[in-house]
Amino acid sequence: MSDHKIPWLNMPGFKGETWNPIVGCTKVSEGCENCYAERMAARLASMQGNGLAQMTYDAYRHVTDNGHWNGKTCIVNSQLDKPSQWKKPRMIFVCSMGDLFHENVSSLELDAVFDEIYRAPQHIYIILTKRPENIRKYIEECAKEAGVDYEELVGSPKSNILWGVTAENQKTANERIPILMQIPVTNHFVSIEPMLWPVDLKSIIFRMPDGYGEFVYDTLTGTVFSDGDSHKLDWVICGGESGPKARPLHPEWARSLRDQCQAAQVPFFFKQWGEWLPSYNCGERSEELAANGKTIGQKWSGNNCNRFDDGQTVVKVGRKAAGHLLDGKQLFEFPKGGNQ
Ligand code: SF4
Repeated sequence: MSDHKIPWLNMPGFKGETWNPIVGCTKVSEGCENCYAERMAARLASMQGNGLAQMTYDAYRHVTDNGHWNGKTCIVNSQLDKPSQWKKPRMIFVCSMGDLFHENVSSLELDAVFDEIYRAPQHIYIILTKRPENIRKYIEECAKEAGVDYEELVGSPKSNILWGVTAENQKTANERIPILMQIPVTNHFVSIEPMLWPVDLKSIIFRMPDGYGEFVYDTLTGTVFSDGDSHKLDWVICGGESGPKARPLHPEWARSLRDQCQAAQVPFFFKQWGEWLPSYNCGERSEELAANGKTIGQKWSGNNCNRFDDGQTVVKVGRKAAGHLLDGKQLFEFPKGGNQ
């Protein structure tokens, strides 16, 4: 089974897959600045007659203008029933080319996506959003329609959906994680990618609705909420940014996140350094690559070097050369759960 290029989709026993029944987005925060999906969408929108299915081309053309997202989203009907066609279990990233919970995705479109998810329970689905408030809205709507309790509708112990938010700094972690954790589903995770600042998951500021104050929330060991349940994260992904304008990842930020997760025994997945590698790693990485007949191939000077305020330097060596070892170790940990 060949590995997917998004390494956190390569859960043992599952083939990694991306599924894009909805495409299109709008940038919402600092982490979106160099959006990879936007770059890819712009490319696909320019590929008519180049081997791309007409329906896919039309979809991407509809959601981009001049190489950028135009704020529209689009359902791609030709993609909708893909999961039921895949018979063997896959680990599926839902909507890598947009945000499933974007404001412009209608409830009917979400219904179509979730109907398909329920039709193909052999897979694990990864739902990752920067808009967790819209997950809640959608589930509330569904519960009302079905005449059942909100809690009844989601989260069985066997749930094969992993629900996650992306956060790039403490501010977005404070804003998004508490909303996610209040959604009574089984598997919660956070992706800190691109990691642009340090993030302390043990001290998330939970702001109560309607001005009822705030409290510090340890999302790794769990906090007991009013429903009596202890809500904690089941998985943490971390990674540096890739692409031509990538911003660097300070090694101490990644280490701190790893240490927090290890102390709380929460699976931690260090995906990549991104384009930049800490300068002290360059020597050992050069040797490693040289053993395979490759080189880091960049000079340690000028624009290829970045110095953080504390003196830590990182070197722009390229994503592949930078690799994914943190203090010499591959940390590709997966959560328990799903339908394994
Ligand atoms: S939410 Fe995701 S897909 Fe949308 S603009 Fe931001 S990074 Fe891109």
